[in-house]
Amino acid sequence: MHNDQVSAPLATEIPPAPARRKLPPKFHSVTVKAIEELTPRMRRITFTGPDLATYPNDGPGSHFKILLAAPGVDKVEVPEMGPNGEGWPPTGPDAPLRRTFTPRLVDTDAQELVIDFALHGDHGGPASQWATDAKIGDAVVVTGGRGPYRISPDAPWTLIVGDETALPAIATILEDAPTAAVVLLIEVDDASDEIDLPLSPGSTLTWVHRGGRTAGHAVVDAVAAASLPEGAGNAWVGIEAASMRAVRRQLIADRGFTRDRLATRAYWKFDAPGYRDGDTGEDVDATI
Ligand SMILES: Cc1cc2nc3c(=O)[nH]c(=O)nc-3n(C[C@H](O)[C@H](O)[C@H](O)COP(=O)(O)OP(=O)(O)OC[C@H]3O[C@@H](n4cnc5c(N)ncnc54)[C@H](O)[C@@H]3O)c2cc1C
Repeated sequence: MHNDQVSAPLATEIPPAPARRKLPPKFHSVTVKAIEELTPRMRRITFTGPDLATYPNDGPGSHFKILLAAPGVDKVEVPEMGPNGEGWPPTGPDAPLRRTFTPRLVDTDAQELVIDFALHGDHGGPASQWATDAKIGDAVVVTGGRGPYRISPDAPWTLIVGDETALPAIATILEDAPTAAVVLLIEVDDASDEIDLPLSPGSTLTWVHRGGRTAGHAVVDAVAAASLPEGAGNAWVGIEAASMRAVRRQLIADRGFTRDRLATRAYWKFDAPGYRDGDTGEDVDATI
């Protein structure tokens, strides 16, 4: 799908995260073992390290934090925390930077963790830059993967809406449900960003090309135009924060989705470095 119109990001006031009590994370020190270019804008990095023998991963579509050395700091250190997690998240000018990623593949026997990094070029931040510059032997610290999404075997079909940052999650969700009927709408810059995904015979995949438009706009339009199968399906959405809200609003207001059938999440947000990873967009529900 193409559209030549370039427009500003979708404007939405997004409230701060509600206060939540969380268990402190466990940390795993890893180094880069291999690097592969999946596409011109997607780098697969395989990490290794003895800590990965016990790497916890809840399942498909889960996420973790990667800790990168702050600017001017040589090496990222495992944060020191008190017995109840005091000291997390670390603060101060030398505190490691934290960004959210998806365990694309985990092999505890081989002590390997694979992450697919979307590279954002001049628009990106430290994680995108780190992945662009990464070389064998570079060291980082990661937390364990949690917050999985499994396609319900009771759903007649599932709509999946994503962009390149959600491709690792989408791939793991599809691998976990190899016979499920899935309607996929995935926004990328152009055909060079498309990757192979494991599709069941009953699934359909539409790559939505930005065609120069601001990220998120083309996929919002694609959802509006999509013809969905009969019956009450579920939906999983992982895209930019304001676009995620626009899709959530559409699915509830125009497509009759009930909230319990929706799993929507901001994978990033325009002009919001290190955006929180728990933004599910439920604040828009009150406006529908
Ligand atoms: C649950 C979850 C799982 C994720 N899994 C992955 C994954 O496996 N692989 C992956 O590549 N990403 C993944 N992401 C997205 C990733 O966390 C963000 O893109 C993050 O902002 C990248 O960090 P950064 O340091 O490069 O940029 P930041 O410092 O966070 O942001 C700097 C600027 O970059 C811009 N920016 C950030 N992301 C994008 C983008 N996608 N397109 C254009 N501009 C952008 C923003 O405008 C921001 O102001 C995931 C996010 C979530 C919430």
